[in-house]
Amino acid sequence: MDFTPTARIDLSALRHNLNVARQMAPTSQVLAVIKANAYGHGAVLAAQALDQAHGFAVARVDEAVALREAGIDKPILVMGGAYNREAVLQAAERRLTLAIHHFWQLDLLRFQRLKQPIDAVIKVDTGMHRLGFSPEEVEEALQQLAALGLTGDRPKLMTHLANADDRLDPATQHQWTRFKALVDLFDAEYSVANSAGVMGWPELQGDWVRPGIMLYGASPFIDSVGIELGLRPVMTLEGRLIAVKSYPRGTRIGYGGTWECPETLPVGVVGIGYGDGYPRHARPGTPVLIEDSRVPLIGRVSMDMITLDLRTMPEAKVGDRVTLWGRGLPAETVAEACGTIAYEIFCGLADRVRREIIDDG
Ligand SMILES: *Cc1c(COP(=O)(O)O)cnc(C)c1O
Repeated sequence: MDFTPTARIDLSALRHNLNVARQMAPTSQVLAVIKANAYGHGAVLAAQALDQAHGFAVARVDEAVALREAGIDKPILVMGGAYNREAVLQAAERRLTLAIHHFWQLDLLRFQRLKQPIDAVIKVDTGMHRLGFSPEEVEEALQQLAALGLTGDRPKLMTHLANADDRLDPATQHQWTRFKALVDLFDAEYSVANSAGVMGWPELQGDWVRPGIMLYGASPFIDSVGIELGLRPVMTLEGRLIAVKSYPRGTRIGYGGTWECPETLPVGVVGIGYGDGYPRHARPGTPVLIEDSRVPLIGRVSMDMITLDLRTMPEAKVGDRVTLWGRGLPAETVAEACGTIAYEIFCGLADRVRREIIDDG
């Protein structure tokens, strides 16, 4: 029997989730966000599977170049833009679209003699307060871009929502109001919506939307999980029980002896740990799935192992398959028990986990 932890990547689920995005933003182009190796799922794999996307979005030029090298030739938006002249040249050669968030990035374009024009999008800070030109700076940025001959027929603007995961937060409407004024003023093509924008704010979808997390089947909202929204999990992470023991009352389990058996109980050991990307800060009680039953994690997560309380599943035996997240156990639920979000646990999947691609229509 093979005990290697396995992440099953379901391409039919990925395509299904893209279709959900396309249906929710029917008049927008969909740029599938596949930064950070498609949130741990495999960027080239995702790009190849998502042939119904209009294009892709990544954070860095290197990520886009890797996609081009793998033969992906749809439009690719680099949301962080270029950080040096070499990257500007690569972007021009590889026909990438560069977001421009700062005057120093305009300087890079100016100092670089380009053989081809570059497709550029001005990134506006409407309330995230991280990257982007302030609304007052946009005119100057657009003028500098126009002086470089890089504005095309119509200028392009983008912004990013800071609080859209909470549908009741008024900040999203404020960001949209600020942004819409600029879009109208400059008669710009524009992009606002991440997954939460696509699913929660139909009015702000614009020329292109940038869904990420929803493509992987997780909810972008704090108050729901993906399956409740009609999304399907793409990644299912599985391990195997490698030992089942019975320990008497008072036995302390694992590093630090932080968890003590309250009575005699069966303990299962699963051959997966933080070295595979299972979060070390998972709290006791974090659910783990054996067949269709949830059993609680106990003790600390080790590098290669976790321990489970099998009192509700005493028939579990060595070799049984265990699901850490995915089908039957939403990543959002696990993430919450670990004090984080599904994005982080997907991105944390380690190389030593075997990937198995499934595509069952
Ligand atoms: C990551 C990112 C997205 C995608 O966000 P999700 O919440 O995963 O949908 C969209 N736009 C920008 C600028 C991003 O950095």
